Amino acid sequence: MWVDADKEEVYRMKYCGCLRNGKGEFVLRCKEIWDEVVEVCGARNWEELKDEVSDVMFGLGRMLGYLCGHVYVKMWFDERHVKKIEGRMEEYGCVRSKRHLVAGMCPSL
Ligand SMILES: [Zn+2]
Repeated sequence: MWVDADKEEVYRMKYCGCLRNGKGEFVLRCKEIWDEVVEVCGARNWEELKDEVSDVMFGLGRMLGYLCGHVYVKMWFDERHVKKIEGRMEEYGCVRSKRHLVAGMCPSL
């Protein structure tokens, strides 16, 4: 499963603009993965570890997506992260965690 970066309307219905995979964002993708790897190291129990590993896999899927021109490429074990961001989209219309919101709204609106 992947979403075409140039079919923006299609993916916008499902995810917000924070999931754009724009040109020149390679360093950003690397940084996102690094941030998640750091969180894996900080996991205090099995459930947290699974969550964080899933976040890393999603980051890698984003990296692969960047390289082949998609928003995201489906990865092994990323279902947890996908479920998490789908829940966020339903709850407040943004894939990012609440601390990234601007006045309770998606910063990419
Ligand atoms: Zn957003």
